Amino acid sequence: MSNLNTKWRRENTYDAIVVGSGMTGGWAAKELTEKGLKTLVLERGPMVRHIEDYPTATTDPWDAKYPLGRLPPEEVKAHYPVQNRTGYALTEYTKHFFVRDDEEPYTEAKPFDWVRGYHVGGRSLLWSRQCYRHSPIDFEANARDGVGIDWPIRYPDLAPWYDYVERFIGVSGRAEGLPQLPDGVFQPPMQFNCVEEAFKAKSEARFPDRRVTIGRAAHLTAPTEEQIALGRGKCQHRNMCMRGCPFGAYFSSNSATLVAAERTGNLKIRPASIVTSLLFNEKKGKAEGVKVVDATTGEEIEFYADVVFLCASTLNSTWVMLNSTSKRFPNGFGNASDQLGRNLMDHHLGVGAQAEAPGFEEMYYSGRRPNGIYVPRFRNLGDAASKRTDYIRGFGYQGGASRPTWNRSLQGMGFGAERKAALTQPGPWMIRLAGFGEILPYADNRATMNHAVKDKHGLPTLTLDVSIRENERAMRKDMQAAAAEMLNAAGFKNVAPYDFGYSPGNGIHEMGAARMGRDPKTSVLNAHNQVHECRNVYVTDGSAMVSASCVNPSLTYMALTARAVDHAVSERRKGNL
Ligand SMILES: Cc1cc2nc3c(=O)[nH]c(=O)nc-3n(C[C@H](O)[C@H](O)[C@H](O)COP(=O)(O)OP(=O)(O)OC[C@H]3O[C@@H](n4cnc5c(N)ncnc54)[C@H](O)[C@@H]3O)c2cc1C
Ligand code: SF4
Repeated sequence: MSNLNTKWRRENTYDAIVVGSGMTGGWAAKELTEKGLKTLVLERGPMVRHIEDYPTATTDPWDAKYPLGRLPPEEVKAHYPVQNRTGYALTEYTKHFFVRDDEEPYTEAKPFDWVRGYHVGGRSLLWSRQCYRHSPIDFEANARDGVGIDWPIRYPDLAPWYDYVERFIGVSGRAEGLPQLPDGVFQPPMQFNCVEEAFKAKSEARFPDRRVTIGRAAHLTAPTEEQIALGRGKCQHRNMCMRGCPFGAYFSSNSATLVAAERTGNLKIRPASIVTSLLFNEKKGKAEGVKVVDATTGEEIEFYADVVFLCASTLNSTWVMLNSTSKRFPNGFGNASDQLGRNLMDHHLGVGAQAEAPGFEEMYYSGRRPNGIYVPRFRNLGDAASKRTDYIRGFGYQGGASRPTWNRSLQGMGFGAERKAALTQPGPWMIRLAGFGEILPYADNRATMNHAVKDKHGLPTLTLDVSIRENERAMRKDMQAAAAEMLNAAGFKNVAPYDFGYSPGNGIHEMGAARMGRDPKTSVLNAHNQVHECRNVYVTDGSAMVSASCVNPSLTYMALTARAVDHAVSERRKGNL
């Protein structure tokens, strides 16, 4: 019997375990395997193989079941009431990459839009690919404003890792030389269209501090030899990315990091494996591995390793840690600070301005650029001119100009005579500036364990209690006003500021629930993403974030992950794990 046990334990033992195979899990897997560690990736959802498991990647509009691929209201109501709150991402073409809300419950103490994809690749398949670096200003923000706690690292600590990640994933963009939006390793930028060019010229003439640039997006515009060798190719501007890209032209774990990891021969991926807790050896004072529930059979299994990377996404890594209670960790793994689950952040959005752009009726564009324009933050940058007295921090705008009516008809709006008539009328040019604002870390913005509500596997679930406050509300007023000013300055018509409202989570940038910090009394992770109280567990998804900045965060998660793996491998070599 003990021989059997020894054999079983040996078979279930790896050098490293990675929990989750999304944006950060893919990076952890690539880095660990390339550095020679036999690595097990545990993923709660099913396998999604690059290309072969993208069933709708080439579905034409006329083959869609529903006009524009929009799901019928009864299906949305029954299965996707939360996932549908993104307003654009959930369609007939993408629904298989979103969780079903009726199968994955959580409790909204206040409205919280938890948008998730449980499968190999996670939300790296679904993301909008916008990639911006946090700036030196962002890493100093909490210390400067006396908000939350200070980041234990600064921009120069992460800068080489941003370079490293950008070089591998491929980011198209334009260098702008702005201190609040550091430049990176860019492939050639995508182009503005004629209205965006006019907007840039006129708005920048009136507001020289408000730079208008093209979005920085993880699309290959000039693939490198390394990217081509992985089977990735140049972006074709089809804008059907969220279905999975057969060209591997946008970055996802499935097309890039997991492929690289697999090629090392050191990777094993086990889908349908829900990690429920970390196994802690009290005598040794370190984690031994993880406990898993097999999502198909319900069987409980243990896996062992020298080092564990939690990359299950902010709220799921938090869930695993809150569920890992023991004599040593009565209120959750590594939670002596009581900060686990707190300080949840996102980016608030749904606010900005739009307008009609007359004078370009004879102009059009070809292709469907899978990207927009970007206006980097221009408020509270440390100088008198940008300082606001009504709120701290700032926001950026994403947006763009298009002829939406024509685009819609091309995508399948209407049939027969109605469709033909629509095709002869390209409709007006419209332009929109959509704000993404920073949310401060509030200790009572919180995820807690709910043992009363169980999921289909009988596992406890989360309660989410998150709201924005006065700082964000004041910022939203300015986000409308400043966007309207810029559109007016460009001479556009019918300028309409808007605030459609915002529920936390809707930015799909959950962050901060296991923050980094210098002091174990006020933070869960140290400067290398190690759990202060258990050094062989690293948490490198968005839960590590100390402040949110206003830029899309995934590039920062990937850079933190690559940096943390480098640290873990070196510590393991020294026998410190
Ligand atoms: C529509 C959309 C647009 C977006 N646009 C952008 C953008 O433009 N720019 C940007 O920066 N970000 C964007 N994001 C956010 C981005 O996708 C996430 O920040 C990123 O995917 C987070 O990476 P992650 O590894 O933490 O989590 P995920 O990519 O979500 O991966 C987590 C993985 O862990 C698995 N998992 C969860 N729990 C467990 C468990 N207990 N055991 C085992 N496995 C588990 C999940 O199934 C999943 O595969 C967007 C997201 C969406 C949905
Ligand atoms: S736009 Fe580019 S990345 Fe998106 S699906 Fe088309 S080729 Fe792929």
